[in-house]
Amino acid sequence: MNYNKSINAFKQSQELIPGGVNSPVRAFKSVKCNPVFFDYGKGSKIYDIDGNEYIDCISSWGPLIFGHSDKTTQSKISDYLKRGTTYGAPTEIESEMAKKIIELVPSIEKVRMVNSGTEATMSAIRLARGYTSKNLILKFAGNYHGHGDSFLIKAGSGAMTLGLPDSPGVTKNTAKDTIIAEFNSIESVAKQFKKNLGKIAAVIIEPVAGNMGLVQSRKDFLIELRKLCDKNKSLLIFDEVMSGFRLSQGGAQQLYDVIPDITTLGKIIGGGLPVGAYGGKAEIMDYLAPTGPVYQAGTLSGNPLAMSAGLSVLNRLNEKLFDKLESISKKIHEGFMQNIHETGTKAIINRAGSMMTLFFTENEKIENYNDAITCDLDMYAKYFKSMLDEGVYLPPSQFECMFISSVYSTKDIDKIISSNKKSLQSI
Ligand SMILES: *Cc1c(COP(=O)(O)O)cnc(C)c1O
Repeated sequence: MNYNKSINAFKQSQELIPGGVNSPVRAFKSVKCNPVFFDYGKGSKIYDIDGNEYIDCISSWGPLIFGHSDKTTQSKISDYLKRGTTYGAPTEIESEMAKKIIELVPSIEKVRMVNSGTEATMSAIRLARGYTSKNLILKFAGNYHGHGDSFLIKAGSGAMTLGLPDSPGVTKNTAKDTIIAEFNSIESVAKQFKKNLGKIAAVIIEPVAGNMGLVQSRKDFLIELRKLCDKNKSLLIFDEVMSGFRLSQGGAQQLYDVIPDITTLGKIIGGGLPVGAYGGKAEIMDYLAPTGPVYQAGTLSGNPLAMSAGLSVLNRLNEKLFDKLESISKKIHEGFMQNIHETGTKAIINRAGSMMTLFFTENEKIENYNDAITCDLDMYAKYFKSMLDEGVYLPPSQFECMFISSVYSTKDIDKIISSNKKSLQSI
């Protein structure tokens, strides 16, 4: 494939935008090649500015469950567009959105809209701190909750004791209010509760983690986590920015039947426009201004164009759709497994519904951050490049997952599987 125009576009963007991109992973740094600049998308395919066609296995990190240029979403946006874009004042469509979310997500009785997943998680922990009058937040190594200061805490052994910030610009004082436990280890959580008795406002977790590659919680772990939070009067926050509306209509909490106090949402909820939300028990949510003392606001929050796009997706979530996603994803999973076996590649696959990651590792299981970092990143980089050249667009990092959309044809599925085989043979 020829990537000349993308190479030139990246040269130019690097002079204008830090690192040439508006979100770091897009720069393809960890897969060591030039990022591809896109022109348009249609259905399962995206087209770059050099005219190359790819099957899109990222779906904009999840939102595009109905593929690109989805007609229903487009028409809902354009219907609203005729009436304006935003008023910075209430509209009925916000209540329509809230009603839909409350109907779908088991734990949510009231919900506040924001503009991104990061805003949702930042606001959720402020609310948890205000509501409980406690300061500490417990998060898990390898879980990502957006770029809020409190969440950028390094997930290593030093951090477990010292709370060292992961990024310059995060102050030590902020970092020390975030404590780390090991994903899927209830002992590590119990230890932190014991050590910080009466001080933990909330535990935040990706119940199905998508940001260290796909790593599922064990059910017993989540059940015990819920119990520990209750016992210590700490809130349990499920960050379902990725898993919400993607793993099932009601997200991971519905699948696991474990009910958090607060849930954060993003990605799919905007149908491709920038939207986030957080919701939970009415008693907790009413602690927000203007009814309660905890402040949180947003000029464009709940703006009607974004609500139209999001609702166009949420209104079409049903069991048939999730069955379809499962069947497509299962075919790809099985095809990849066969290829791994036939090529003798040292790799395993984690999958939950339409989210999956192929890990290049000699481990038999990937259950937490320490497992995930055993992966061979050079191997992933080669695999990624080979798939790109084959016309399959994968996440440009070993620690992200594929998001499969419901519009893949049988031909697309076959092509993804055959390209996987070729790529595994070539690396
Ligand atoms: C993407 C993501 C976020 C951040 O959302 P943005 O919209 O990128 O700010 C937070 N939590 C999880 C689990 C995510 O996957």
